[in-house]
Amino acid sequence: MSCPACALVSRPPRGADAGRCPRCDEPLAFRAANSIQRTWAFLIAAAICYVPANLLPVLTTTTPQGSESDTILQGVVLLWSPTGWPLSLIVLVASIMIPSAKILALAYLLLSVQRGWVANPGSRTRAYRIVELIGRWSMVDVFVDTFTAALVQLKPLMAVEPAPGLAFFAAVVVLTMLAVEAFDPRLIWDAIPAEERHA
Ligand SMILES: [Zn+2]
Repeated sequence: MSCPACALVSRPPRGADAGRCPRCDEPLAFRAANSIQRTWAFLIAAAICYVPANLLPVLTTTTPQGSESDTILQGVVLLWSPTGWPLSLIVLVASIMIPSAKILALAYLLLSVQRGWVANPGSRTRAYRIVELIGRWSMVDVFVDTFTAALVQLKPLMAVEPAPGLAFFAAVVVLTMLAVEAFDPRLIWDAIPAEERHA
């Protein structure tokens, strides 16, 4: 096992306790501490923020004709046109579908671990890897850049300002990333008998 502080790989002592790192004396653990509780906490917070992120306006656009605030979904509808539909689709996928899919996938993984399910540990580990990978590039600025660029194309001569929904949207992105980080994928394999793990 490797030390979380100095990354030294050492052989754990016999018994239930993993002991301390022989090089830097950092306490070692077989599993990340309170992984399930911490993941649930971040996930529930993300799910709560997801509601205002979608209901509140995320951007206020001011044109010579006046100013207007749009929610994510209003932006998706606004962008939908014979030429604008690819951008509309990107905003829809990046800002509504991916965050909700991440929340649902992590909740499923947590439940599977808590209930001690033994089926398909390999594909559940793969699902975790996919969620982890998506988290790295689904950043807030991708969404903001796309949305802003798209709206500027749509309405020339305007100013764009962030609206309150954007803060909740950013919170959803950050909280799901923290939830992914808090989840320990080794937990998936704990329910499986040791002799079957190498199959
Ligand atoms: Zn160490």
